[in-house]
Amino acid sequence: MRLHCITTLTFGAPSGIHLRVSDSLVEIARLPGQANRRAERPSRPLLRRAEVSEAEWSDWRWQLRHRLETLAELEAFVTLTDEERRGIAIAPGLFRIGITPYYAELMDPQHPKCPVRMQVIPLGVEEKVSPGEYVDPLGEDALMPEGASCIVHRYPDRVLFLALDRCAIYCRHCNRRRMVGQETGIISRAALEAGLDYIRRTPAIKDVLLSGGDPLTLSTEKLEWLLSELRAIAHVEILRIGTRVPVCLPMRVDAELTAMLRKYHPLYINTHFNHPKEITPEARAACERLADAGIPLGNQTVLLRGVNSQPRIIEELNRALLRMRVKPYYLFQGDPVQGTDHLRTPVGAGIEIMEHLRGRLTGMGIPHLVIDAPGGGGKIPVGPNYVLAWGPDRVTLRDWQHRTVTYVEPSERDCACPYDEVWRGGGARG
Ligand code: SF4
Repeated sequence: MRLHCITTLTFGAPSGIHLRVSDSLVEIARLPGQANRRAERPSRPLLRRAEVSEAEWSDWRWQLRHRLETLAELEAFVTLTDEERRGIAIAPGLFRIGITPYYAELMDPQHPKCPVRMQVIPLGVEEKVSPGEYVDPLGEDALMPEGASCIVHRYPDRVLFLALDRCAIYCRHCNRRRMVGQETGIISRAALEAGLDYIRRTPAIKDVLLSGGDPLTLSTEKLEWLLSELRAIAHVEILRIGTRVPVCLPMRVDAELTAMLRKYHPLYINTHFNHPKEITPEARAACERLADAGIPLGNQTVLLRGVNSQPRIIEELNRALLRMRVKPYYLFQGDPVQGTDHLRTPVGAGIEIMEHLRGRLTGMGIPHLVIDAPGGGGKIPVGPNYVLAWGPDRVTLRDWQHRTVTYVEPSERDCACPYDEVWRGGGARG
């Protein structure tokens, strides 16, 4: 495979993971040495809920150990199409397949367009690199500070902390597929320490988002160590965790985990539900346990063509999220990551969805539609235009039912806040 501008970063040693750094390439990047390590599994183990004990099924470690990875295992759950078989065949060295038995049971065994199945079973077209696609679509690798390769520092006041390279499932649309799933070894303690040191010596950082990989697949002990180290840094105000665990491994959210998490408030969690089919009683219970631990929950949905690209689906999803105390936070235009052209929607489809939601759903259920700037630069909000004209004394707008309304501007326009000087001076603070 021919690649441009590829370098390899190593997290820790000797079992460090390798990240690829590239903005421009002509062929798809292959993961180094990443054959489908369990392709040689001899025969299908018993993985269906009806085939195992309740104790095994509800054990999150059992779920992780028994992820579906091979053709034989996938065939036992669904009737595979030729295109899916081709996707599985090209996977070794190219991308990772991994599906918890719990999530696999949500797949429609017969319908290849099942929204759960489409998110985790690869297709042969993933081999194709389309114009405008990147290995690292958000330019994250270029934002890793010297000596702190598990930190991405894009905005002044916050950082992304890549705590591990493992996820419970491997999503076909993942924008970090260049790094997640190699599982050649978790990021070393030394690399994590270097990340913590960077945060300690950078007082501008007020907000740390733990991601990866999925932080909730770390042991409770290791996750607590990280959270406690971060919480001990005086200038870090809020902690956040990005996770798909409530979606695909809800049994992980147990009493031990929530009791630990609640010690590190203010702590926020963002989940990643993409379709109402993922909101099962188990997923709902996991979110409710987190909410009961006082953790504000948001959801980040990625728009995926043929999965959730209809307004009615996002409306149903967002209503279901609100019912389980999860606030729809972002609706992402799919990032232009290599091999995902078939899953990306036109920008207009997202705008149409936003148009549909406004007025039909409480503002609490309306996410921000954003495009994460290809190549880096951050999130750019997009959406329907409600301002029709802006005159010197009035603004003409339209409402959700396309009725034109006029807002007359006030006679005084000076927006200075005279008390702000007192407030900023600290004289008025108790
Ligand atoms: S859980 Fe998140 S990081 Fe992991 S593969 Fe899916 S989208 Fe990527």
